Amino acid sequence: MHKRLFTPGPTQVRPEILKELATPQIHHRAPEFSELYADIQGKLQTVLATQNAVLLFTSSSTGAMESAVTNLVAKKCLNLVNGAFSKRWHQITAGNGVPCDAFELPWDVAVKPDMVDEQLATGQYDAVTLVYNETSTGLMNPLKEIAEVVKKYPDVFLLVDAVSGMAGAPIETDAWGIDFVLAGVQKAFALPAGLAVAAVSERAFERAKTVPPRSYYFSLPLMLKSHLKNQTPSTPSIPHMYALNAQLDDMLAETMEGRFARHAKMASIVQAWAKKHFDIYPEDGYWSKTLTSVLNTKDIDVPVLIKRLADDYNLRISNGYGDIKNKTFRIAHMGDTQIDETEGLLRAIETVLGL
Ligand SMILES: *Cc1c(COP(=O)(O)O)cnc(C)c1O
Repeated sequence: MHKRLFTPGPTQVRPEILKELATPQIHHRAPEFSELYADIQGKLQTVLATQNAVLLFTSSSTGAMESAVTNLVAKKCLNLVNGAFSKRWHQITAGNGVPCDAFELPWDVAVKPDMVDEQLATGQYDAVTLVYNETSTGLMNPLKEIAEVVKKYPDVFLLVDAVSGMAGAPIETDAWGIDFVLAGVQKAFALPAGLAVAAVSERAFERAKTVPPRSYYFSLPLMLKSHLKNQTPSTPSIPHMYALNAQLDDMLAETMEGRFARHAKMASIVQAWAKKHFDIYPEDGYWSKTLTSVLNTKDIDVPVLIKRLADDYNLRISNGYGDIKNKTFRIAHMGDTQIDETEGLLRAIETVLGL
């Protein structure tokens, strides 16, 4: 029996969208492919409020994270770290031999604009990485305010992992001046994993031309060259592209405002529930709109809760991540999940726990 996913990635995929994956295969150098690519392009630009090119990567989000730091750091990168995924981006940066420093905070503390200002004022950096929505902790960093600070430093590029935020919470790519913003489609896009998207600014493509190549598969100059022909350099996952195109139509029919409002509503319901019965892990004011990391103040047996929800209700939630496993558990309210489904999940948890 299928277990409905309330996990912060992968998320539940609707059957109509799964069917799109079975569209008969086309050739990636045929005109119908370029039509599909261009079609997706325009819709992604609407979702991301951008005129920038939105590249498609046949990889999970990690590939796009790697592309950002290998292509766009000429001098040194500042990795802002306050959770598992931001820490991973630092490891990706260092692991590719890209000069970098980590600015580390406790996992329940948000990155504040003045902290970024202080770091960038040292003049050492020409790029900064930020995770918009830390999926490991349910913390949403103040992207807009941080972007404003980064703008004060014209040579510094803002690289954003919006993996579990994009398509669930607003991102004004052009207005906020984000040079590279990426996401994998298995989170708030509600598609199977295997494709990532990234909006890349013009000046980012310019810098990428001057940075010594560190990657081939993820080379931005090579991807741009193909992009201008509505193609990808290597053979992409075309089934994913059909599914993405259909999903984008449904998203735009809901409207982005409507989609963001639904996410905000689900977040407020789960947050109120968590506050009533438990507590919430990250500091006040920075709770995620797409998932809630519940602080296990009742010391419940989290693996037992997860197993009973799966066995008795066919519902799946996630334990906490890494060091905060069992101390927290995570409920996703993202993608195509509806308000009544979220409320149903909370009722099931109450029954299991006898709340
Ligand atoms: C899931 C996630 C990733 C890693 O994504 P993959 O698609 O597994 O490579 C990176 N960053 C954030 C914030 C995530 O939620």
